[in-house]
Amino acid sequence: MSLTSKRILVTGGAGFVGSHLCERLVAAGHEVLCVDNYFTGRRANVAHLLDHANFELMRHDVTFPLYVEVDQIYNLACPASPIHYQFDPVQTTKTSVHGAINMLGLAKRTRARILQASTSEVYGDPTQHPQTEEYWGNVNPIGPRSCYDEGKRCAETLFFDYHRQHGLEIKVARIFNTYGPRMHPKDGRVVSNFIMQALEDRPITLYGDGSQTRSFCYVDDLVEGLIRLMESPADITGPINLGNPGEFTIRGLAEQVIAATGSASELSFGPLPENDPQQRQPDIARARALLGWEPTVPLEEGLAPTIGYFERLVAGAANAPG
Ligand code: NAD
Ligand code: UDP
Ligand code: UDP
Repeated sequence: MSLTSKRILVTGGAGFVGSHLCERLVAAGHEVLCVDNYFTGRRANVAHLLDHANFELMRHDVTFPLYVEVDQIYNLACPASPIHYQFDPVQTTKTSVHGAINMLGLAKRTRARILQASTSEVYGDPTQHPQTEEYWGNVNPIGPRSCYDEGKRCAETLFFDYHRQHGLEIKVARIFNTYGPRMHPKDGRVVSNFIMQALEDRPITLYGDGSQTRSFCYVDDLVEGLIRLMESPADITGPINLGNPGEFTIRGLAEQVIAATGSASELSFGPLPENDPQQRQPDIARARALLGWEPTVPLEEGLAPTIGYFERLVAGAANAPG
């Protein structure tokens, strides 16, 4: 271990984003403890790190206390897609709220700096476009998405109260739609759905007419933003939006995926889900100013390795790191 190397806990480290973060932190020479209950993550996502002397993997549910000695905590544990977080909504709220309390308690005891993976969903069905961090959001407290949205909002509240009450060094990132290798193939999200459908020459399921827009951030860009935020001066607490402001229609995404895979799939049109936002786009002025961060990977460039990952998955070689 070098003098600059730290002991870093990543909760949810065997998930999509967490596994890329662990990889980056290990490569930078840090000692990484990856904690995960494997609800949506998989050992295979970090299998290539298991032999590394600086990497340790632990099965643990963050709703239970955890006593370890660390310098930094990235709190990512939480299912992220509606299919997964609505499977056991009570557990989802417990993961966000009890998980935050336990990780904040751990940070308080060890004086570790702690970062929360929050979400653009704290803005709910926004009435402001694009969303700046000052916007307080428009969230239904009792709907089927509330376990995720309100759980994440409460976690933010806990972070800021531990900061004010106990002087903890906190960092809150509000993450917008992110994609890349190791996304869960059955998470029901648009990028994974479209790529899987294209690879299997099934119809591409557009909900509505496909004119709604989204912004997609490649996972490497997001991980860079998370690390920059963690390493930023102590007075930068966030919340800070991290996402790619480039806006694409869902139909445009479908066409790009078909072109990139050379698929014979055709477009099919189904009903638009209730409360489906017509537009979602981050305002990243704060991240640009405070972290000097902005995404560098255009959609076309990020789709290639993502498609490559799903191709290996379909071919049955899922254990290959993405
Ligand atoms: P993911 O589902 O791949 O990763 C979450 C990980 O947390 C999984 O490995 C899962 O097994 C683990 N986990 C869940 N409950 C746990 C518990 N109680 N104890 C321990 N581990 C638990 O999702 P992801 O896309 O990698 O998301 C990572 C974080 O980023 C989440 O907190 C998510 O809310 C946030 N986020 C992601 C996106 C995105 O577009 N991917 C957008 C906004 C926010
Ligand atoms: N906690 C933990 N690891 C630690 C310290 C605390 O998991 O190293 C948990 C513990 O379960 C506690 C929670 O974090 O309930 C909140 O800790 P805090 O010190 O804020 O509260 P208290 O212990 O006073 O309830
Ligand atoms: N979507 C779609 N077909 C799919 C999955 C999603 O047209 O197979 C649309 C969905 O209605 C939404 C957009 O793609 O307008 C993004 O959906 P996703 O669930 O990925 O993310 P979110 O709505 O949370 O931004």
